[in-house]
Amino acid sequence: MRKQFAVIGLGRFGGSVCKELYKMGHDVLAIDSNEDKVNEFTNFSTHTVIANATEESTLQSLGIRNFDYVIVAIGENIQSSILCTLLLKEMGVKNVWVKAQNDYHHKVLEKIGADRIVHPEKDMGIRIAQHLVSEKIIDYIELSDEYSIVELLATEKVANRSLIQLDIRAKYGCTILAFKRKEQVIVSPLPDDLIHLNDILIVIGHKNDLKRFEEEGL
Ligand code: ADP
Repeated sequence: MRKQFAVIGLGRFGGSVCKELYKMGHDVLAIDSNEDKVNEFTNFSTHTVIANATEESTLQSLGIRNFDYVIVAIGENIQSSILCTLLLKEMGVKNVWVKAQNDYHHKVLEKIGADRIVHPEKDMGIRIAQHLVSEKIIDYIELSDEYSIVELLATEKVANRSLIQLDIRAKYGCTILAFKRKEQVIVSPLPDDLIHLNDILIVIGHKNDLKRFEEEGL
């Protein structure tokens, strides 16, 4: 189903979010106070508007409360980001996602009711560090302090073997959710499904178990 998104602030982060949502076929309203920025996005969004998103009347005239999601990606100006988020929540926008600059910014956003707070640089830093430490780790999602989902590259050690042969759940306590094989994704693989060399395995488990599997099982 097509969803309605509004992206406020078309810097590196907001700009990427906008382009990707549009590419996926969603309706995206791209908003920035800088005219040049807005012009860059005419071909990468459904509508563009030059507007200051800290003005309540402006947000109202854009009908912002009717959007399914509003992403606040105002970068350095923390004050504007906070004010804009506050206005959006006061106006009754259901899902407001905000990019935070630091922990102080995060705390304030939490207090004023931001629905989701993201730290793109910090999160990306963690992912890149994980990948640097082991080339087998392609991607990494932290679910909690203890549990994660990782994408691991299938090595020779597991290639052409089935899940039942490898018995990963019993040996390592982690579960393979899916394989990615080129463009194909095999969700909930069956016990007899064979792993191919260079498949990407999507694995969920306790961090210690995942580490053990990555180090000893692959
Ligand atoms: P990033 O770190 O993601 O690249 P930037 O700080 O470069 O973020 O970009 C933030 C964008 O937000 C800029 O394009 C800026 O013009 C825009 N912006 C800042 N304040 C406002 C505002 N009050 N209303 C709308 N857009 C704003």
